[in-house]
Amino acid sequence: RIRREVIPANEIGVTFSDIGALDEIKKSLQEVVMLPLRRPDLFTGGLLKPCRGILLFGPPGTGKTMLAKAIANESGASFINVSMSTITSKWFGEDEKNVRALFTLAAKVAPTIIFVDEVDSMMGQRTRVGEHEAMRKIKNEFMTHWDGLLTNAGERILVLAATNRPFDLDEAIIRRFERRIMVGLPSIESREKILRTLLAKDKVEDLDFKELAAMTEGYSGSDLKNLCVTAAYRPVRELLKQERLKDMERKKTEEAGTSSEESTSET
Ligand code: ATP
Repeated sequence: RIRREVIPANEIGVTFSDIGALDEIKKSLQEVVMLPLRRPDLFTGGLLKPCRGILLFGPPGTGKTMLAKAIANESGASFINVSMSTITSKWFGEDEKNVRALFTLAAKVAPTIIFVDEVDSMMGQRTRVGEHEAMRKIKNEFMTHWDGLLTNAGERILVLAATNRPFDLDEAIIRRFERRIMVGLPSIESREKILRTLLAKDKVEDLDFKELAAMTEGYSGSDLKNLCVTAAYRPVRELLKQERLKDMERKKTEEAGTSSEESTSET
């Protein structure tokens, strides 16, 4: 199952240029991700330690998954997408085995970015009422392998995770994310940039990007994308409507033709 989630760098298909705005975040990701993955030899000394965990947090649809994919692509790393459902199994003991398999596979296809989406559902707080025994085991197994990366500077594996609920994370997990980056809702300037990126390949000469950005306060990147897709369908819908109208006109004239033929043959 985990094998299916591996995307080689050259097949990821998302680049930084597909992501509008978020310039500062892109820059800091490049800084902390590229070097350790590409040049682990620079980190074999005592002081300089490669970063092994980055947490992206913020509201849904703000581009966290896109950022993770783009950074894997740009740094030439394989991308493994994991979530609770990739790891859990109905078979006893299988969950921990899956976590082990994940790290073994990551080492095999290294450099690798292990992306844990909705990390809170996999690594929530220990003290939370009703924490499942299975979840505790997954978490402990994950942390053991993760710590293994810390002691081996040559290992070119990085854990990147995303959550909309950072406060639900286990303390021990939060500590392991050396960098925590907030990906918030876009400002008016950012919305304009995102809209320009989303519509870069479309003919929209008469669109006032500034005005649209001003009208979309509170929209995430994903909301803006949905808005553009819906708008793009409007002319298509219009075209279909016109064609349907033409069709109806044609049918009407055909019917009128046959009925006048019928009435002539009767007379
Ligand atoms: P979630 O927390 O719901 O998983 P997310 O933060 O991971 O969301 P993404 O899955 O990366 O968000 O974004 C969803 C979609 O929204 C993307 O596939 C993309 O089409 C669009 N999108 C979001 N942010 C941007 C952006 N900054 N530039 C261009 N497109 C964006």
